[in-house]
Amino acid sequence: HAKQAGRGRWMMFDQAMQLAAVHRLQMEADLRDAMHRQQLFLEYQPIVAPHDGRVRGFEALLRWRHPVHGLVPPARFIPIVEETGLIDPIGAWVLREACCQLRDWQQAFDMHLTMSVNVSAIQFADGGFIDVVTRALAETGIAPASLKLELTETAVMADAEKALAVFAQLKALGVRVSLDDFGTGYSSLSYLRRLPIDTLKIDRSFISKLDCFDDKRQIVEVVLMLARALGMDVVAEGVETEAELALLRDMGSDLVQGYFYYRPLAPDVAAQVLAGQFAPVAMC
Ligand code: C2E
Ligand code: MG
Ligand code: MG
Ligand code: MG
Repeated sequence: HAKQAGRGRWMMFDQAMQLAAVHRLQMEADLRDAMHRQQLFLEYQPIVAPHDGRVRGFEALLRWRHPVHGLVPPARFIPIVEETGLIDPIGAWVLREACCQLRDWQQAFDMHLTMSVNVSAIQFADGGFIDVVTRALAETGIAPASLKLELTETAVMADAEKALAVFAQLKALGVRVSLDDFGTGYSSLSYLRRLPIDTLKIDRSFISKLDCFDDKRQIVEVVLMLARALGMDVVAEGVETEAELALLRDMGSDLVQGYFYYRPLAPDVAAQVLAGQFAPVAMC
């Protein structure tokens, strides 16, 4: 009996694995079409200066509207995009689209705004990456300093020597670099000092319920001190409450990003935010 039950379980396990594999293959095939069928699009989450509440820039976030499954979260499809090599065309598209959008907003609102674009470790390791960035800048004509490339701490520290070489080329282009999800990886302090990083993005896990945990507050304070010592600025990610915001403002966080101010927005909604914010300034 026990043996039979065991075999039954194995069969179920097998079937589950097979289903998962089929599903995965289907997702891969669907992703290959997604770009041409205009199922991929970007949302833009404002990055805000907490002392005056004004939008200073945006982070572009990739979205996939699947014809059957609806909106698929990036955490589920970006790994597939990376493993299938689709990250090269899709990553290049994201970069150009985000730069294009920034140029339009800068022109429409006559504002200095930045655009942050996520770059995966695989894109970053690709020999053609610098060319892709150079082309996006040339084709859109945005000031290189208004583009901020976000790389996760984990991706950068996994091959810090490589990062030194690529960051040097990005700096030569005039582009800025952010270390994303800071605090969740293993940063070497000596590489942190040597790498030309402009911004540390403190991971959401440290910001969430910041007001409830003394140790979180102390960690954030230390990161702010570290950033200052290294000449970097800081973005606090995932600010959801007024209490978190108040603490970050008091501690002197340069910038914040999170649902408390804005969720990731469709381009026309983001434009409305900019219009509401900057129209009065233009009048005086
Ligand atoms: P990330 O770069 O750390 O982006 C921030 C994530 O936190 C986004 O999730 C954003 O929607 C979410 N977020 C922002 N504020 C809050 C908040 O107050 N509360 C909570 N709970 N979440 C908040 P999203 O859009 O699901 O993206 C997840 C990750 O997928 C990103 O993390 C990034 O690593 C990756 N990703 C997104 N777009 C791209 C892309 O174009 N290329 C690459 N390579 N990766 C991307
Ligand atoms: Mg990011
Ligand atoms: Mg992040
Ligand atoms: Mg994150």
